[in-house]
Amino acid sequence: MFRTWRIGRILGIPTELHWSFLLVPAAILVYAYQPGLGLRWTQVQWWTGITLLLFLFVLVHELGHALTARARGVRAEKIILFPLGGGALIPEEPERTFDQVLIYAAGPLANILLALVALPLLLWQPNGAYLLQFYLNPFGNLIVLPSLTEQLLGITLAVNAILALGNLLPAYPLDGGRILRALLKKPLGERSATVITTLLGMLIGGGLVGVSFYLGDPLLGLSALFIVSFSAIELNRGWQRRRLARASITEMLRPPLNERIYAADRVYRARAIFAGTDAKVLPVYDNWNQLSGFVEREVLMREADREHPVEFYYEAEFITATAAESLLVLTERIVDADVYGAAIYSRGEVVGFILTEDVILHLDRSRRRFYKRFTNRAAS
Ligand SMILES: [Zn+2]
Repeated sequence: MFRTWRIGRILGIPTELHWSFLLVPAAILVYAYQPGLGLRWTQVQWWTGITLLLFLFVLVHELGHALTARARGVRAEKIILFPLGGGALIPEEPERTFDQVLIYAAGPLANILLALVALPLLLWQPNGAYLLQFYLNPFGNLIVLPSLTEQLLGITLAVNAILALGNLLPAYPLDGGRILRALLKKPLGERSATVITTLLGMLIGGGLVGVSFYLGDPLLGLSALFIVSFSAIELNRGWQRRRLARASITEMLRPPLNERIYAADRVYRARAIFAGTDAKVLPVYDNWNQLSGFVEREVLMREADREHPVEFYYEAEFITATAAESLLVLTERIVDADVYGAAIYSRGEVVGFILTEDVILHLDRSRRRFYKRFTNRAAS
């Protein structure tokens, strides 16, 4: 799903192409083929040209973000280009609100700049005023037949205007939504700023889904659905972060079992220990009683040969922490490391474990409590 190819560094920013770009030539060929007539080459050329132009405009937009980030002292990791858009990966935000706004605004500004270059050149053409009217109003009729230069200028103007204005809508995850969130963070706090901009994202995205039906535009519909789902995911992530920030490690600590699974144990012995607990994952020790990893119940029950040693089936990767760490930070570390869980140490001894499944369970429980409270209130 996330497979990309590096196409090189552009102005020093690593740039990658998403695999779905392979669909573009395929789509053009399908579109340009007409039974009986064969492949209409003028259509192939035209749509290839349009695609390359779009690609260029999106690239300029993302370079706007990435180069501004670099100029404001934060790393721009890479640019990824999709057939219908792109993304500049900027892992860390700069501290000052002004710098954040500048970085998010730089993408749409780059498109406005391109449009402002095309505008006087288009007006300068013999039928400039007519052409301008046509390209800014997609429902208008064109009386004159534009030349290739005029078409290029018109498309550059119209597409960049749409890219700039569309991205400036105050809806998460669009640039406009991110600018609004950066501006609201100081006065309202990060949590409220996220709630407001993601709700706006779901509202505006939902509205755009309706507009796309009205216009019969499937590409707009698809983009609108992206906006709605990204907003919903971000809203939920914010809620989960708050839950985890409030919970403590000790309240979720799984104490070590009296009976330990050793890496050299046979699978059937480990299965017997699993039978006495509800845990999906248990720690595995080496012969010197040092923690050496975790083994999953499912793996042992399904895939393992009962006479094999457990060491064939366990994961040797885990992270360690102390009980003083916040559950939010610890969970982020567990997710980043992509491991089953963490061993919690106190004075050089393992006092228990925090497992991913327990964190998920905790979030589920708080969600159920939350809904229960909400429905009780709604009923009364
Ligand atoms: Zn952008």
